[in-house]
Amino acid sequence: MSLYIVSTPIGNLEDITLRALNTLKSVDLIAAEDTRHSQILLRKYEINKPCVSFHSHSGQAKVDKIVDELKEGKNVALISDAGTPGISDPAYVLIRAALENKIEIIPIPGPAAFLTALTASGLPTNQFLYLGFLPLKKGRQTLLNLLKEEERTVIFYESPHRIVKTLAQLEEYFGPERRIVLGRELTKIHEEFIRGTISEVKNIFKNRNPKGEFVVVLGGAGMV
Ligand code: SAM
Repeated sequence: MSLYIVSTPIGNLEDITLRALNTLKSVDLIAAEDTRHSQILLRKYEINKPCVSFHSHSGQAKVDKIVDELKEGKNVALISDAGTPGISDPAYVLIRAALENKIEIIPIPGPAAFLTALTASGLPTNQFLYLGFLPLKKGRQTLLNLLKEEERTVIFYESPHRIVKTLAQLEEYFGPERRIVLGRELTKIHEEFIRGTISEVKNIFKNRNPKGEFVVVLGGAGMV
């Protein structure tokens, strides 16, 4: 019947809307990126619904199976491990397949890590560019070169294993004085905003290991 795109918390389990909870309680089936991970949230809110997994390695057969359930008249909620489904996670594939089958898509908005970081960053929010995860190899240098003149605030996701290397690379391309903000472990117990120039932020990690989840918010060219 309808595919509900339900945003869930990015850390703090209280960051879920009443509409999201009511939707999860009323659908016939929940398609979750990681069913075991999502059980923590579903148990907290006493939501006891059949769950199927839908993740980046789910093949076409899984997509077809969920679309079949929708075509049979079931309401399905799609949730990801964190935040808004489709934002740097595999939800898009299922949403497109549902649309091709004339299934109604109903978004239930809520948190997304990149907006959470941007709004508290103190960097300009009037225009920004969200890049998901930067390409690891092919295309990375071309992209960084293109971004040198970008005047809008640039936001992307980065893993704790790569953040130090990425900061060194950002310093190389954008210079040591460019403003940057790292949003770490947002909405969680160890939430932290690390603000400064690229060089200052890079130096912080000389004395500590980066841990947790990161959003990088980079000031645009010409920003002081
Ligand atoms: N769908 C999610 C959203 O709406 O933001 C993003 C999913 S993406 C697979 C996961 C990445 O988002 C992490 O590697 C991290 O960079 C970022 N992220 C997710 N939760 C976060 C949090 N609580 N604090 C900081 N970054 C977070």
